[in-house]
Amino acid sequence: MTDQTTSPFGGFTIDFGAGGDAAATPLPDGIAAGVTPGGPVEAKVVIVGSGPAGLTAAIYAARANLEPVVLGGYAPGGQLMLTSDVENFPGFPDGIMGPELMTLFRTQAERFGTRVVDVDVDRVDFSARPFRLWAAGVEYRARAVIVATGASALWLGLESEERLRGRGVSACATCDGFFFRDREIAVVGGGDTALEETLYLTRFARKVHMLVRRDEFRGSRIMRDRALAHPKVEVHFLTQVAEVLGDEKVEGLRLRDSVTGAERTMPIDGLFLAIGHKPNTDVFRDWLDIDEKGYVVAHEHSASGIEGVFVAGDVDDHRYRQAVTAAGEGCRAAIDAERWLEAEDVVETTTAAAAAAG
Ligand code: NAP
Repeated sequence: MTDQTTSPFGGFTIDFGAGGDAAATPLPDGIAAGVTPGGPVEAKVVIVGSGPAGLTAAIYAARANLEPVVLGGYAPGGQLMLTSDVENFPGFPDGIMGPELMTLFRTQAERFGTRVVDVDVDRVDFSARPFRLWAAGVEYRARAVIVATGASALWLGLESEERLRGRGVSACATCDGFFFRDREIAVVGGGDTALEETLYLTRFARKVHMLVRRDEFRGSRIMRDRALAHPKVEVHFLTQVAEVLGDEKVEGLRLRDSVTGAERTMPIDGLFLAIGHKPNTDVFRDWLDIDEKGYVVAHEHSASGIEGVFVAGDVDDHRYRQAVTAAGEGCRAAIDAERWLEAEDVVETTTAAAAAAG
């Protein structure tokens, strides 16, 4: 990581040094990825998203000489950028910090010629090939596209929550936990993210209240047991947040019993949301099959409903949603894209990855 800026409660950004202006730093010359002055950026493969799925797809595509362009988003790196210790990614027996892991993914992808541009895709047109994508005023044309846009944190949707966001309300314990040293705080949610964030926050806070809306957790056994056994953690089942209290900063919560509706207040200094994620599929909505929860529906293997457009990672996976499964899906999508491009005569020679997959 080249630069890290921390802002109170506002999260942090990591500048990978790739810049945000595609036209300012031209892509390598050639058919695979080229820039006509003032014209569109052409690429064999454009990968949208720079989490574990997108960057693994990039590593495979780059090693197959497809010179992929990754449109990585203004907040590149995906959800692991908002995670503390990752203890279950194979190869790191002592664990690794999420942002550090994503920096390694990116370095590996760039080593083989991936070009990563930290821009959000605003619009796509998949009506004809080459596919067209627009990001930060630049048009990209791709023979194949891999959609790996992942998912974003959900919020409760309370007016008070939005008003106090950045003033004690956060969805990123890793970013903002530091600011709550010796304070009393609450975490909403009963899944693995909430459990993980609660345990992480015990490093700073005097006490962490877990607010779980049902009478049971959703998260894994090992994490539940750790939270329940932790002396700084108090779990409140059947408890929902009705309002975040405070004018300039968080001062407390109005809580509601999920069964009786009875209300009570709880004085706290900070509130962390960890209630799940929404897949980032808005720009693809007119083109790809999207299910009722917003996830892209993959067809055969990693193929979407449009030939030449592939999907990988949390954007289509509501079952596993792990960094390692996302990475595996990125690998699958890159191999599928490579084989498809080869069948379309876009890739002239059989590459090692395509042969291995055959
Ligand atoms: P999740 O498993 O969907 O859990 C979301 C939690 O938030 C649930 O307890 C849910 O309650 C609660 N919730 C949802 N909406 C709420 C609302 N409006 N008000 C109050 N509570 C609300 O999401 P996640 O914890 O982010 O995990 C997502 C996936 O990533 C899971 O597969 C998880 O195993 C995985 N993950 C793994 C790790 C790890 O292995 N290290 C770490 C983090 C996440 P209900 O149960 O009542 O729906």
